[in-house]
Amino acid sequence: MSRIVVVSNRVAVARDTGKTRARAGGLAVALEAALRESGGLWFGWSGETTQNRHRAPKVTTSGQVSYATLDLTRAERAEYYNGFANQTLWPLFHYRMDLTAYERGQEKGYIGVNRFFARHLAKLLRRDDLVWVHDFHLLPMGQELRRLGAPYPIGFFLHTPFPPPEILLTLPNHEAIVRSLFAYDLAGFQTPDDLRSFHEYVTREVGGEVRRNSTVSAFGRTIRAQAFPISIDTGEFAEMAESEPAKREYERTRASMRGHKLILGVDRLDYSKGLHEKFLAFERFLERRAESRGKVVLMQVAPPSRGDVAQYREIREDLEQLTGHINGRFSEPDWVPIRYLNRSFQRANLAGLYRASRVALVTPFRDGMNLVAKEFVAAQLPEEPAVLVVSRFAGAARELSDALVVNPYDTDGVADAIHRALNMRRKERIERWSSMMSVLENNDLTAWRRGYVRALRRTARTA
Ligand code: UDP
Repeated sequence: MSRIVVVSNRVAVARDTGKTRARAGGLAVALEAALRESGGLWFGWSGETTQNRHRAPKVTTSGQVSYATLDLTRAERAEYYNGFANQTLWPLFHYRMDLTAYERGQEKGYIGVNRFFARHLAKLLRRDDLVWVHDFHLLPMGQELRRLGAPYPIGFFLHTPFPPPEILLTLPNHEAIVRSLFAYDLAGFQTPDDLRSFHEYVTREVGGEVRRNSTVSAFGRTIRAQAFPISIDTGEFAEMAESEPAKREYERTRASMRGHKLILGVDRLDYSKGLHEKFLAFERFLERRAESRGKVVLMQVAPPSRGDVAQYREIREDLEQLTGHINGRFSEPDWVPIRYLNRSFQRANLAGLYRASRVALVTPFRDGMNLVAKEFVAAQLPEEPAVLVVSRFAGAARELSDALVVNPYDTDGVADAIHRALNMRRKERIERWSSMMSVLENNDLTAWRRGYVRALRRTARTA
């Protein structure tokens, strides 16, 4: 069977310490589990910068998996990573035209880094490899590999949302982005909504054709395009909630709550996560439900990310201020409503926190999937499950439709959902949880990966 080659912006090399792992986002966690089983090569940026313009990949091997990483120059990092990826594509793909900056020079740098990666990757590839490229940092990778004559099947998976044409059209070079997807054999999206946005662009803007067999034609090429909602290792996560670190975190948190009910949020500090509005909804809940004051605590875990980008520093300051305001307004000598933790946790410790809480509040404005929502469900005790409140704009809400699904822009609506979740009877909690858990057992990380790889192999056979 052919080797799988994963290409992603960052590579979580197996020798990484626990600290690195604790910071790993959904993508790293998912891919690590995928490669451990199948074996292969993981290729990408080391996360380091260098002055050296003559670079070769650093290759290490652990078991069946090799890792090859390249350093970037500071200019490359500024244009490719902090620039076009994080200040153009990320906000645009999360429907934030207001935060999207576009500079031609940065786009050029972005393409240049993709070309540089492709040149080095091509030397490591074997004829029968299956290449699987991940996420918005590497959209042009397929095109660059093809330019070098790559004959292998190449697939792409987008972990973020794919915005509707009305939004994508605001990007000066939008057609180049969509065209680059047609260099792949398979384009994977998180949800049917993202796939529909892609279809709409292709049919409306470039006169392409969408067929019932999941193929799409445009720019003289036909590719497969499908939705593959990413998931978690459901069984492993449920077990993790029983581990020693999880139990310790659970006990510590429960003891500190002294009978108060815990509402938990776990979100990277990112404007797409709707943190400001989440805090406002909690404030509204405290205003309107005076009887809950002194009895409920919102614990928000918010690890900082992308601190090099100004907007991320601003949101951090904003939340610190808002937390101070709400706590100042409602605190009592023996009770503080918001515990704001500006740090990351190991996933096993998070599992303990998930289990110690009564409600999870996951209210992004826009999220490709949101693995926290899925982990929260997987970590619950079957006989005493907590309630998930999830934004309809998180990809996860499609599968977890038995959660309390909210509109994060509706402050009163979220405040109502908090109240309802805190007061939900055990029978209803169990019914909702059981149905969500069976969804997660059926579509776990293994099913996701196998589904994608099977579809990619199929394109190889039909090519
Ligand atoms: N996570 C973690 N430690 C933390 C916060 C988050 O390990 O302190 C993990 C979390 O368990 C989840 C991932 O980071 O697996 C976040 O994925 P999600 O899809 O929710 O959001 P993303 O950060 O990828 O936008």
